[in-house]
Amino acid sequence: MRVLSGIQPTGRPHWGNYFGAIRQYIDLQENNDGFYFIADLHALTTVRDPAQLRENVLNAALDLLALGLDPNKATLFVQSRIPEVTELTWLLLTGTPMGLLERCHAYKDKKERGLPADAGLFTYPVLMAADILAYDSQIVPVGADQVQHIEVCRDLAGSFHHTYGETFVMPKAKTLDVGAKVPGTDGQKMSKSYDNTLPLFGDVKKIRKQIMRIVTDSRPMEDPKDPEGDHLFELYQLFAGPDEVAAMVEKYRAGGFGYGEIKKAVAEVSEAHFAPARERREELEKDLDSVRDILDAGAVRAREVAGAVLDRARSACGVR
Ligand code: ATP
Ligand code: MG
Repeated sequence: MRVLSGIQPTGRPHWGNYFGAIRQYIDLQENNDGFYFIADLHALTTVRDPAQLRENVLNAALDLLALGLDPNKATLFVQSRIPEVTELTWLLLTGTPMGLLERCHAYKDKKERGLPADAGLFTYPVLMAADILAYDSQIVPVGADQVQHIEVCRDLAGSFHHTYGETFVMPKAKTLDVGAKVPGTDGQKMSKSYDNTLPLFGDVKKIRKQIMRIVTDSRPMEDPKDPEGDHLFELYQLFAGPDEVAAMVEKYRAGGFGYGEIKKAVAEVSEAHFAPARERREELEKDLDSVRDILDAGAVRAREVAGAVLDRARSACGVR
């Protein structure tokens, strides 16, 4: 199956991004033809500093490769390197009802909050539809919040077909496992906008300090505690094996420990978990040329596919 997934180069990934999304995307490379792109054109709606954007794109590539995306199994590329997608966006835009986009929540939310929105944000779902259709994508793994945009994509493909005849492969959304809603350092959902994140990469000592500052309740040490619903325990569970988890449950129920001890355990298991990726990232940082080569090769492969799809779309609507 052709699986397509994009990541926004807007910041450094945190534990929530990893367990909720990145890890699941990368796993799909094993039994599928994975196309993974870094969505720099989408990021332009929020990142307005060119040096920052370039750096973010490179960082996103380093993150994905370090976390296990294998360029021999999957195709990794940067969105803007495939101009076929922007042309396809126009072909789709000419058949997109305004009302459809007005209902899309990224735009609607901004408008309702009285924030200024540009046409890029308004038409973002159409660029996303072109991203998907350009690669004959069959499966698009997304978080629940993105399902609406896949529906828009299917609507646009459907109405293009209605007007011009069968042209695109109809994609399906694959909703990612939302079992893991990773809590942040304040116990709320971990989220860049809540400033409660624990990053995957970066200074280990600094991350350890952040872990030690995770908010906990103030029950006395000797009290037995319930691991259910405890966010420190939830974080521990992300990394620990079944035996370690069982031992931790016992510890909670028995009481007589301090949360500092659990935080140390979380720091240790998480450091061990990310150590190999961290090492790979350091190696890759020393050899940025080969990272650029991977992105170049990915773009060549992606353009081949997108070029053929764009040709079908152009002939269908009569612009060639
Ligand atoms: P923002 O605050 O700007 O929304 P974010 O930190 O929530 O940023 P997103 O870019 O919204 O990150 O999310 C990227 C992906 O990571 C999405 O698929 C989302 O579902 C997933 N994700 C984000 N935070 C979590 C979390 N705490 N637990 C599980 N998955 C998460
Ligand atoms: Mg979010």
